[in-house]
Amino acid sequence: MKSARITGPNEPLKLSESETPTPQDNQVLVKVKAVGVCHSDLHLWEGGYDLGDGQFMKVTDRGVKYPVTPGHEIAGTVEAVGNDVSGISKGDQILVYPWIGCGQCPACKVENENLCDTPKSLGVFQDGGYSDYALVPHYKYVAKLDGLDPEVATSLACSGLTAYTAIKKSNQNSPEFLVVIGAGGLGLMGVQIAKAITKAKIICVDLDDQKLETAKEMGADFVVNSKDPETAKKIMSICNEKGADSVVDFVNAPPTAKLGLSVLRKRGNLVLVGLFGGSLEMSLVTIPLKSIIIQGAYTGNYHDMVELLDLARKGVINPMISKRYSLDEANNALEDLKARKILGRAVINP
Ligand code: NAD
Ligand code: ZN
Repeated sequence: MKSARITGPNEPLKLSESETPTPQDNQVLVKVKAVGVCHSDLHLWEGGYDLGDGQFMKVTDRGVKYPVTPGHEIAGTVEAVGNDVSGISKGDQILVYPWIGCGQCPACKVENENLCDTPKSLGVFQDGGYSDYALVPHYKYVAKLDGLDPEVATSLACSGLTAYTAIKKSNQNSPEFLVVIGAGGLGLMGVQIAKAITKAKIICVDLDDQKLETAKEMGADFVVNSKDPETAKKIMSICNEKGADSVVDFVNAPPTAKLGLSVLRKRGNLVLVGLFGGSLEMSLVTIPLKSIIIQGAYTGNYHDMVELLDLARKGVINPMISKRYSLDEANNALEDLKARKILGRAVINP
């Protein structure tokens, strides 16, 4: 099989040939039709996360071992299955659930494998889908597409799934005004999902007017370009000067988190999702005085992915795939995402 692999931080991805594995026991071998290019692939490529104050969290300190094949939004056709697999057979079109856990820790025991203490996620800690074949360790991590287009489905394994979890968390205080920061792969899914599952008026914020236009088409009631120094004022005025009930930050860098906190009303709810990183100084008394909630959201569980597949089949959400690359062009795909040239999601068709 042919794979585009990360060999070390910021090194160009290397195309390599290896023997196509034969699935054993519960394993499933997938012929990859499409794999989404996520901003998290960029963080993996860059070697880690910005912790702020000049500090950097290396992915190798979190258990990543190079070389690794990135790609966690994998859709394709089952090529072969191990002897113990049931309900899945050769030729089935499937989406892979990549957020694989240990199966033993408290999170895994309640089927939130995405929050596992020792994660084994595909495309991060194990080889993923920037490859013509991907080996899935157990058939319980695949879901049938049942007619859904594989390219559209890719987004549901990460960008859609993460947005779904985050919007659900933001919806716990029945928001009247919900701010979505970032209109990239995750943010545009966030806008669509918020439109579908909340009653809130949605205010979307980004630096890019074209992305904001798309956000409007996908259901945002208001858009604000945060290059405008009056962004916070504009949001406050949209929210009748009371502030937003919930903010979901799909960027999560110092300027966006600061903006989120500044427009949050009393009893507000801030959900931090993005991994752009950095650090922030906060005035602590406002947190109890306003009784706000600040929480994180990380991907989602298998059941949420299955729910999303259903919403996509019904046409309630329509993931946007705007660009396609071959496996040989994997470096270009990552460069284009880094240069903010991608609207919605790009996919690689190996
Ligand atoms: P993307 O590159 O598709 O989109 C990022 C968007 O943010 C772009 O539209 C860009 O214009 C906008 N942006 C950047 N800086 C901004 C700023 N200062 N103010 C306003 N807008 C700004 O990325 P993506 O794939 O949507 O991923 C977003 C982030 O979420 C990444 O850091 C990614 O690693 C992370 N992520 C987190 C999870 C999770 O489970 N928590 C899952 C997947 C991705
Ligand atoms: Zn992702």
